[in-house]
Amino acid sequence: MTDAETAVMPDRTNTSRDHAKRYVRHFLADFAKLDQEYPRTYPRMIVRGEGAYVIDEEGRRILDAGSHLGACQIGHGHPEVADRIHQQVRNIEFIALDAGISHVYAAALGERLAKMVLCDDPVFSFTNSGSESNELAFKIARQYHRRRGQPGRVKIFSRNGSYHGSTLATSAATGAAPFKEGFGPLPEGFIQGAQPSPGRCGHCGFNDACSLACLDDFERLIMAEGSETVAAVIAEPIAIPQAVKVPPPDYFVRLRKFCDDHGILLIIDEVVCGFGRTGRMFGAEHFGVHGDIVTFAKGLTSGYVPMGAVAVARHVEEVFKNAPLLHLNTYAGHPVACAAAMAVLDIMERERLVLHSARMEPILRRELQRLQNAVARVRYLSVIGLLSSVIVDISDRPDPDAVIRRVRNIAYDNGLLARVARDGALLSVHFYPPLVVAEQDIVAGVRALEIALRMI
Ligand code: PMP
Repeated sequence: MTDAETAVMPDRTNTSRDHAKRYVRHFLADFAKLDQEYPRTYPRMIVRGEGAYVIDEEGRRILDAGSHLGACQIGHGHPEVADRIHQQVRNIEFIALDAGISHVYAAALGERLAKMVLCDDPVFSFTNSGSESNELAFKIARQYHRRRGQPGRVKIFSRNGSYHGSTLATSAATGAAPFKEGFGPLPEGFIQGAQPSPGRCGHCGFNDACSLACLDDFERLIMAEGSETVAAVIAEPIAIPQAVKVPPPDYFVRLRKFCDDHGILLIIDEVVCGFGRTGRMFGAEHFGVHGDIVTFAKGLTSGYVPMGAVAVARHVEEVFKNAPLLHLNTYAGHPVACAAAMAVLDIMERERLVLHSARMEPILRRELQRLQNAVARVRYLSVIGLLSSVIVDISDRPDPDAVIRRVRNIAYDNGLLARVARDGALLSVHFYPPLVVAEQDIVAGVRALEIALRMI
């Protein structure tokens, strides 16, 4: 066997530490490299998955409480998805949607999604990721106004603390500062304003009800910039980067009306909230808000293969009828990704996973409330469906990064793959397992988190 072959095979003659060392040696600095200095094996090498669990090289079963950046909905290792991907590769591995050529798999997926998404009589453009979906949404919004004779409408408004992707334009639209600093100059015309943000928006405290003063600020900012210069507002139905932020019911009703009154398109970013994560198929269903453009990715294929999509309402699509949008994407609507998405949607429906996500919400809340009662540092909890966060005060700790490592490592040693991030003097711990998670998994996972948080 050559070196190249052994490098990608989890061969049994090497220890986990050897594999981790190879990774660290050959990959650009990324999040997987975090925590190397922990006196164990880093990065942890995952070799298999089963439902809500991943299994590492040492055979440990770990609850996947971050669903791998929120992608995994139907659980890991589903044989039906594997079979359908396999079958699709045998039928035809790839067809580019170009020059009079398409395929039945993209047509079937578009038809199915059109019945689900909160977007009026939508048409679709497929992508490979959430970032690409949002990037395309911005291009569509700007072209839409240009074709309607308003070329001055170019600005894209988003909200502080949001995340919309890793490309240059989506970094510019991202409100969470650490993801955009040092990459400039970023594209012009991207502006951020306030959003409901417990303890951070400057209006409401951690456990107060939202007064919507943040939305007053946001609207005032747009008016000050000149609403006639604005192409679109982009918003996640429920933002998660710092904490899971569930806006009050009237937030989106008002934002939708404001956009309509000022001729601004509303882009709903469902990349994390979509496909059952919040106990509804799409996050926007909690607020009954329709997007002019709706973007998604992750849960669409449950992470089995990369795929994203942009839904465009018919009234927006009309302007592209006579001259298509010149936006070429080689792998758009990749047949293997379409097959994976169709299999995932079949499984979600058959196993009633959206309902299951809603039914697990009170159990997750009960367990997290118990954790809050047990750990004095917990400042704020938020739960919707199987999406939750716990905000922990670590302001008395001199080295917050060391605290993160410790929490992550102790959680892992207790069977929990937790997503722990730092937000100033606060720790945000997200708990959002695959939708197939059972009550006892949640109970065990939150206990593991409690052990870790007690040891800060
Ligand atoms: N939008 C939101 C709300 C996201 O959470 C993410 C990814 N975390 C993205 C967009 C970007 O998606 P991707 O990483 O697939 O490009």
